[in-house]
Amino acid sequence: MLYLSDKAFLILAFNTAGMLLINKTLQNNNIKTDLVPAPPETGTVCAIVVRVNENDLETSKSILSREQVVYKDIIEDKKLKLQGLIDRKLGLAVSVEFLEILKKIEAGDDLSYEDIVYLLKTDKPKELDVIYATADRIRKEMVGDAVEIRGAIEFSNYCCKSCKYCGINATNEIAARYRMTEEEILEVVDNLHREGIKTVILQSGEDPLWSTERIIKLIRIIKARTGMRITLSVGELTKEEYKELKANGADNFLLKIETTNRKIFEDIHPDDDYDRRVQCSKWLKELGYINGSGNIIGLPGQEISDIARDIMFFKEMGINMIGIGPFIPAKGTPLENLPHGNIELTVRTVAVTRIVCKKVYLPSTTALASLDKDAQVWALNAGANTIMLINTPEKYRGSYRIYDNKNMVDMDSAIYAVKKSGRKFPAYLKISKEMNNVD
Ligand code: SAH
Repeated sequence: MLYLSDKAFLILAFNTAGMLLINKTLQNNNIKTDLVPAPPETGTVCAIVVRVNENDLETSKSILSREQVVYKDIIEDKKLKLQGLIDRKLGLAVSVEFLEILKKIEAGDDLSYEDIVYLLKTDKPKELDVIYATADRIRKEMVGDAVEIRGAIEFSNYCCKSCKYCGINATNEIAARYRMTEEEILEVVDNLHREGIKTVILQSGEDPLWSTERIIKLIRIIKARTGMRITLSVGELTKEEYKELKANGADNFLLKIETTNRKIFEDIHPDDDYDRRVQCSKWLKELGYINGSGNIIGLPGQEISDIARDIMFFKEMGINMIGIGPFIPAKGTPLENLPHGNIELTVRTVAVTRIVCKKVYLPSTTALASLDKDAQVWALNAGANTIMLINTPEKYRGSYRIYDNKNMVDMDSAIYAVKKSGRKFPAYLKISKEMNNVD
């Protein structure tokens, strides 16, 4: 039997097209590859790299040279080793099981499903302190101290789907519908660009009148005018549509799995199929998107074990951005009378996701901010590194009510959260210079 090395190597490309070509060429030659987020030392030019096992390295090199596929570099996929997690002072305040998990984290080894369940479940205060501190250290090592600030425009709340939790679902008659025009969207984009924000998130319901062709026209203009990075969050499309959008300027795509428990998924998404959703996420990856997923904490019937599987899924799929938010009931939906998800469990899920997935974007979500003014601060201290501002024009904002009491995350609240968590503003923001607290 072939011995599989636990060492892996990363093949770095010059750009996304190159990365995709390398991946395809190797796969066509039966080499097993993974697309993974690039480690910090490679910079952020090409955010995804191709990983191959050490056993396949030499064959891969000769395949690429034979087929004249260029690459920029090959580096070892180094494990992130952390020293000093285990401290004698921990003493009896932590369990033997917990110490075993810490050993794995120190050595840079992957955690098992059981380890993840343990971290999500423990109620020992000292263990919790260590979990949060470890997530915070890994965040610092992998993505630094600056909090990424992105601007979201919720450009239409028309939706043809009936997701049971979502306040703008097709069947919710109390939702006041709006659809922004291209001009209205561009006006907001120009403002974001002036503030120095580098990424705009365009989010909507699944609105047939904002067709793929129309979105393509819009993103082409945004790219030409501002050069900003574009994140789309417009739901399930065909592979061809995702491809067209990518070719015309979309960089990132946010399509949350919401839950990896198939039964719950199908119960809360009467129009969607679980396998299809996973397929969409795989296509996004294959097409070279920075691939966003995430889950909702506190769905009816959801157990800690389900959340642990969600985290395994993010890791196995090589997801780059993971939005983790508590469930919040929305009036007019079938789930309107349920309690909201637990804040501590949500923040803890952020922390464990950082420990497991390492170099990823983890937003401190609006849903968290909606439950407590300080919840965004807690998430930033537990591994999160991104805040999404809501830039939907005031006259529409209240109608993008995916859940009730949705908080307004604006620049002021982001400044509050960044300061209170002791973090830094990114240098690209105009406002950062005045804040004098730039990374
Ligand atoms: N139509 C797009 C955008 C959906 S809104 C899509 O389907 O991808 C973005 C996210 O809001 C969803 O992925 C979901 O995780 C979250 N969301 C919607 N309703 C919610 C609720 N009631 N509580 C918590 N999160 C919710």
